[in-house]
Amino acid sequence: MSDQSSTTQKVSEKGEQRFAPTINGTAFQTHSQHSARSTQHYQHIYISPHFDDVPLSCGGQVAAQTRAGEPALVVTVCSRVPTNKVKRTPFAAQMEAEWRVTIAANGPNIYLTRRIEEENALRRLGAEHEWLDYLDAIYRGKAYNSDAALFGKLLPADLKRVLPWLTSDFAKIAAPHRQATLYFPLAVGNHVDHQLAHIAGRELAARGYHVLFYEDFPYASRSDALAERVAQIPDQLLPTLTDISATLDDKIAAIAAYGSQLGVLFGGAAAMRDQVRSYATHVAHGDGLAERYWRIV
Ligand SMILES: [Zn+2]
Repeated sequence: MSDQSSTTQKVSEKGEQRFAPTINGTAFQTHSQHSARSTQHYQHIYISPHFDDVPLSCGGQVAAQTRAGEPALVVTVCSRVPTNKVKRTPFAAQMEAEWRVTIAANGPNIYLTRRIEEENALRRLGAEHEWLDYLDAIYRGKAYNSDAALFGKLLPADLKRVLPWLTSDFAKIAAPHRQATLYFPLAVGNHVDHQLAHIAGRELAARGYHVLFYEDFPYASRSDALAERVAQIPDQLLPTLTDISATLDDKIAAIAAYGSQLGVLFGGAAAMRDQVRSYATHVAHGDGLAERYWRIV
């Protein structure tokens, strides 16, 4: 473990240009951000590749759990702010330009805005947060430079370097909460950052943690995306439903906090409400409202 920590530290000292996380070992405490620094004994730990993934996919269940007095933590992986020193591919620059259009009214800093949105959403769900110091895929080198690449195969460098760091960080976070359930993305839609978190989740399941996988929304609502993803996963998976009839409004309110994303993801707030409700109805087979989670059998 010490080897890994020192390697990580060394890489991080090379500066912002590198995509490497700086959160292993003692550096972890310095570089991650926690909402409460609490000694809370979490019963539920959710892994979110990006800001917004957990409220979008699991908001109803998180709200139900925290309402029932079960503490929940949301760990967001790609929370690192890319400074001006981070080289942008034309694709990354174009994505930022699109975000700026929707964020213009809120100020020039798109990342600060996204953090505020995340805090507001999680406050609504009653969950605490931990932010890890990883850069989003579009800033990790030049290869994820198109939609096809971003939703395609993982780079060997990600599998070789980032994945072990990520797995180690998740294990460190989970270790004091052995009884907790850990929730990872199923990686429906195959976004590379979701795939990395998913593989790390499978590893923690193999180590004996209680792991469930959530359906990445809104990707999961698109035609055959869910079935295709489930078919790709080598393990056999079994679904289980969580009733969110009492907390759908909390979920919708939390998602509404992401003002910068609603247009891109749904085409606006009204469409978001319709799509969230419609998918929850679909998942519940028309009998109420539900979210679906999958476990390895
Ligand atoms: Zn995401």
